[in-house]
Amino acid sequence: MKMRPLFRESVNRTSEFLFAGRPIYLCLKKKTTMERLCLRCGAPLHGRTDQKFCCDDCRTDHHNQLRRERERRLRVVNRILASNWRILNAQLRAGHDTVPVAELAGLHFNFEIYTNTRRGLPGRRIFWCYNCAYRISRSGMVHIWEESCRNNAYL
Ligand SMILES: [Zn+2]
Repeated sequence: MKMRPLFRESVNRTSEFLFAGRPIYLCLKKKTTMERLCLRCGAPLHGRTDQKFCCDDCRTDHHNQLRRERERRLRVVNRILASNWRILNAQLRAGHDTVPVAELAGLHFNFEIYTNTRRGLPGRRIFWCYNCAYRISRSGMVHIWEESCRNNAYL
């Protein structure tokens, strides 16, 4: 009786072996024939299997593009942090250490970006924007203080 290999469509070759007197079929993985292309310009690659670029210019351009993108994202985050820091400092300078969340949001304070955070008392998370710390109370108020004059009552 001839055994049929499983998944015949997915393999290009099968080899027959005997195991305990019965034929078994070893499925050999199909060799990939997919053409490899330069990550930068899409030209076909003919070199080593780990080759990613067709030439040095493409490799350099690709890495320069990645670096520019990383630096662009860093500039975006730095701009947001600087803006948040100015907003917090302006509040403190005006003598406002407790400000409604909505008021900071109206000044385009970004609550998603901060330099540090840690848990204070249960349910109280403290955020930092450089040296300015703040905590958001359940009543929707933001309590702000400078790290150098931290008030333990907020912790
Ligand atoms: Zn290329």
